[in-house]
Amino acid sequence: MEKSKIWLSSPHMGGTERNYVKEAFDGNWIAPLGPNVIGFEKALEDYLFTGIEKSDYGASNKGGVAALSSGTAALHLALIILGVKPGDEVLCQTMTFAASANPIAYLGAVPIFVDSEKDTLNLCPIHLEEAIKDRIKKGKKPKAIIGVHLYGMPYKIKEINKISKKYDIPVIEDSAEALGSTYKGQKCGTFGDFGILSFNGNKIITTSGGGALVTRNDEFKNKAVFLATQARDNAPHYQHSEIGYNYRLSNISAGIGRGQMEVLDKHVQLRRDMHDFYVEIFKEVPGVHVYLEPNEDYFCNNWLSVISIDPVEAGGLTREDLRSCLESENIESRPLWKPMHLQPVFKNVPFYGAGIAEMLFEQGLCLPSGSNLTKEDRERIANAIKKCFKFS
Ligand SMILES: *Cc1c(COP(=O)(O)O)cnc(C)c1O
Repeated sequence: MEKSKIWLSSPHMGGTERNYVKEAFDGNWIAPLGPNVIGFEKALEDYLFTGIEKSDYGASNKGGVAALSSGTAALHLALIILGVKPGDEVLCQTMTFAASANPIAYLGAVPIFVDSEKDTLNLCPIHLEEAIKDRIKKGKKPKAIIGVHLYGMPYKIKEINKISKKYDIPVIEDSAEALGSTYKGQKCGTFGDFGILSFNGNKIITTSGGGALVTRNDEFKNKAVFLATQARDNAPHYQHSEIGYNYRLSNISAGIGRGQMEVLDKHVQLRRDMHDFYVEIFKEVPGVHVYLEPNEDYFCNNWLSVISIDPVEAGGLTREDLRSCLESENIESRPLWKPMHLQPVFKNVPFYGAGIAEMLFEQGLCLPSGSNLTKEDRERIANAIKKCFKFS
């Protein structure tokens, strides 16, 4: 009999999601508005902003969260609200999922890709500043910086915010993978001029599909909701002075989100336990590096556990060898995101860097990390890894 598939990250319901969805049916709120949308936004706002005024990066204006149909939609609206226009340039971490960069292209703007650094795998402050200086010298000051907390690891927030202030370029914080992660005790998603979240099926919590825009400015939240609901002017008939979008989250999906918020912290802990499990397994394995938080300022939700394999030190074994070993046991694993500057669709786009993202792509592997993995799943994973590395 074939063994059941162990997924990288699959949906994990807490149990109360159905109650909220049932309420939506009972009240006939089967629309992209209703009590679940409001309730989900409130739950996210409480989760993200509670205590923020006491933090190093706090501000008196707490801002708000707009629930949307996807994280990609949230990025698109953030760029629109920042005034990005055709021909403008937007800096973006190269090592990421295509959804971080695609909305730049939707607007006819040009992405400028920037390399990663090795501590967090995220936006390198040195290459970021180099890129800004060079773009300004070439005649265009970039309109925004998109930094990504890949796999839940916060990017170098202090350094990136400093550069953003120095050059007066706003930051869009792609926190799609980092709900529940913190830096110096403050929640990821609240550091940038805008933060974005994703509730896609494989993320830390899911609404089956959905996302949110996080802002520290109430007016921006209102603007995002206005644009996401077809930009209707205040009139009894349908009147429009701006181009609008159909980007609001449905009240059914938001019901799933409300239930998921009740188990978010528990699920983060379970993913962190999975990460500890890999640290233990690879403790004695030469050539394998399990990525860890660089210091105590960083708290990672461990959305996915990431390792890199140096084939020279690992006795010739490559990350591709481990991936196919696991696959033959019906265990899913995946190389890290292929950098955007290596993607055929972005082949003519400028890039600033020194090969770190490429090296991470060649040597890195994401391992099964779901909060719903069982003891038996862990045993299967451990045995498959041992078999591959020929130790016991
Ligand atoms: C998932 C993801 C997105 C996009 O979110 P969707 O809700 O799937 O549109 C954006 N950026 C990163 C880094 C992601 O992982």
